[in-house]
Amino acid sequence: MTTWTHEPKEPLPLTAPSGIDRAAHHRLDEAWLAAAWSHPTTRVFVVSGGQALIDETEDGTTELVMTPTFEAPLTRSHRYFLGCDEDGVSYFALQKDSLPGRFDQSARAAGLREAGLLLSPRDAGLLVHAVALENWQRLHRFCSRCGERTVIAAAGHIRRCPACGAEHYPRTDPAVIMLVTDDQDRALLGRQVHWPEGRFSTLAGFVEPGEAIEESVRREVFEEAGVTVGEVTYVASQPWPFPSSLMLGFTAKATSPHITVDGEEIEEARWFSREELRTAFETGEVRPPYGISIAARLIELWYGEPLPKPGVGR
Ligand SMILES: [Zn+2]
Repeated sequence: MTTWTHEPKEPLPLTAPSGIDRAAHHRLDEAWLAAAWSHPTTRVFVVSGGQALIDETEDGTTELVMTPTFEAPLTRSHRYFLGCDEDGVSYFALQKDSLPGRFDQSARAAGLREAGLLLSPRDAGLLVHAVALENWQRLHRFCSRCGERTVIAAAGHIRRCPACGAEHYPRTDPAVIMLVTDDQDRALLGRQVHWPEGRFSTLAGFVEPGEAIEESVRREVFEEAGVTVGEVTYVASQPWPFPSSLMLGFTAKATSPHITVDGEEIEEARWFSREELRTAFETGEVRPPYGISIAARLIELWYGEPLPKPGVGR
């Protein structure tokens, strides 16, 4: 039986409430959008290739580099309306082919994997929204019904087909990620074929068409590790726009512990007791997953305390 002895202190990156009201009802109101764009308190940032500029503030925090709209680049851009905060400030992102180079010397380009760990919930929420829209726009320029080139609408949230009238909405692909435990409360961790040596993490995979997510958990664990799973419990979700996933995090109970890896996606899978995992961390045999992924949090919830930082023994 799993004992959940540890509640993480930090919210899961990219999931904390951002305080931004997406205000979807304004997306089709061109007059409102034009007024919001020209309002002096409105803030805008550029997103390009999944990156934006971030900068350190005097108090040591990191923030998204945002400007009033009159300072925004005038070149042709896609403009995404992201929402308003509780003070009525409106936020936009401009999608461009490159990031502007005229900001403060200390500003630097960063993607979500880095920025998601550094930014405030508000700024991380704005960036993940903008990056998800950018990825969807980039990959869906043509109508999937008739093949015509589509045009952007609804402040970045719809693509319309001028030929057949179809409206295309941003796409999100559900994926499941699960910490499987056995009747000895050991955790099943696997190594993907292309991962660096020593890295183990939770199993994961995409939900297939016509499949319930609980079934997806059971199928993926069996396909990748040969382990059969019974009870499946939802834990949390995390937007994962690389390019368009939503990670759905679960715990799952194995009904048979016998491991047979598929050898294609997963080259090795092992059951770890907490003591075994701690020793493996200490000796460097296993490197804990790091970064913004929900995988580290799922393992941490079972492990009972924060995982060691990368490269630091315990
Ligand atoms: Zn069409």
